[in-house]
Amino acid sequence: MFLLDSPSFPFFCPVCNSVAAVEDTLWQGTHLLADCICKTCRFEFYHTYPTGHGLHFPLAFAKNQPQTFPSPHAGSWFYQPLFDAYYQQKSNTVPVEKKVRRNFDKVIILNCLDYLYGHVLLRLLNAQAHLEATPEIGLIVILPKSMAWLLPDGIAEAWLLDIGFVQLKDRVENLDAFVKNELVRFEKVYISYTFTHPDWNKIDIARFAKVKPFDLEHFSEKPQPITFIWREDRFWLGVVDEFLWKAAFKLKVLRHAKFYFIFRQRQKFLRTAQLIQKKMPEVQFFIAGLGKTGQFPAWLHDRRSENPDAETETAWCELYTKSHLVIGIHGSNMILPTALAAGFIELLPRYRLDNFADDIASAFHDRRHFFLSRVLDMFSSPKLVALHACQILGGFTFLNLNFSEKYKTYQPDSGLSEVYRKFYD
Ligand SMILES: [Zn+2]
Repeated sequence: MFLLDSPSFPFFCPVCNSVAAVEDTLWQGTHLLADCICKTCRFEFYHTYPTGHGLHFPLAFAKNQPQTFPSPHAGSWFYQPLFDAYYQQKSNTVPVEKKVRRNFDKVIILNCLDYLYGHVLLRLLNAQAHLEATPEIGLIVILPKSMAWLLPDGIAEAWLLDIGFVQLKDRVENLDAFVKNELVRFEKVYISYTFTHPDWNKIDIARFAKVKPFDLEHFSEKPQPITFIWREDRFWLGVVDEFLWKAAFKLKVLRHAKFYFIFRQRQKFLRTAQLIQKKMPEVQFFIAGLGKTGQFPAWLHDRRSENPDAETETAWCELYTKSHLVIGIHGSNMILPTALAAGFIELLPRYRLDNFADDIASAFHDRRHFFLSRVLDMFSSPKLVALHACQILGGFTFLNLNFSEKYKTYQPDSGLSEVYRKFYD
């Protein structure tokens, strides 16, 4: 974190590379911007502060004419919405709700705003490290209201914006004045670096999701539920269907054609469940996630929702935490399911290879987690996915025994003979 009023780093002019003077700070929404003027060439520009993705992809842009200086490493997904918001004056004014739980003189601001759900969630997970590292400094979280159910205990304040994710591509018109009005209450204001991938080995997901992850010691207990993770904007497709999907995208008819791809995805999930059921009839099947298109047979319990509220989200988390496996297409839809379920099978599209593991939240403390975690190519057939699922469900108990502490003990009379007898049960 760094002090807002006197950060320990300079901002450089993108034109002449001299150190610039910071005239003001602009709470743009997703981004925190320094309002700069070059001390040498008088170029006036905004520069991102090093928070969130701005930490990896610094960028600047001219105030008075369209002239941009994004980091060469940044993707357009990061900088284009910001440039468009400024030069095309795209903005929204939204209600902001202030929830004060504890009073502090010194505070850290954790701004979780982003137009992508997964980015918001990952930003929020930084809260735990701040609460643990500096309990004497109050933590203020800025968050879309729809995700307030994930706020952990112990924070000082939450500033909740009643805003949709897509709107966060634009500037939040009233945020700057709101934040500046609030900050006068504090003696010192720090800004969280807001790491984009906080350390999963240290995150206690129960502090956010309010449910504990699956306890692997109960893995052999039946009926071993499997939950499919549903979304309607990215699909599990075969080679031909993906070709059609790309064509529909290029021709800008995806909105009309998407029902075909949803139908094909439904078929694949259903076929996978049928194949697993054939081998393991006791397994229970669920489907959860965003969207409600199409129907499933009654034995595949449908928990999907078009507009999930906090209650639905919590119920989904409870379902994941009881699931032996979650199966779904790669994306931020997999973060909470993989954090809470025992194991997962993720289908990775080749165009998402760069994002491999971005969305996997399992804590890999030992080799058992590698057994339980499978990332398969998106073109994998339901037959292959079912094969992996059955192997995980059927094989883990033996693997778990092999990897148990008893098999790592060299002391006499460590109780191994008792374990040995259990194989005849
Ligand atoms: Zn300059």
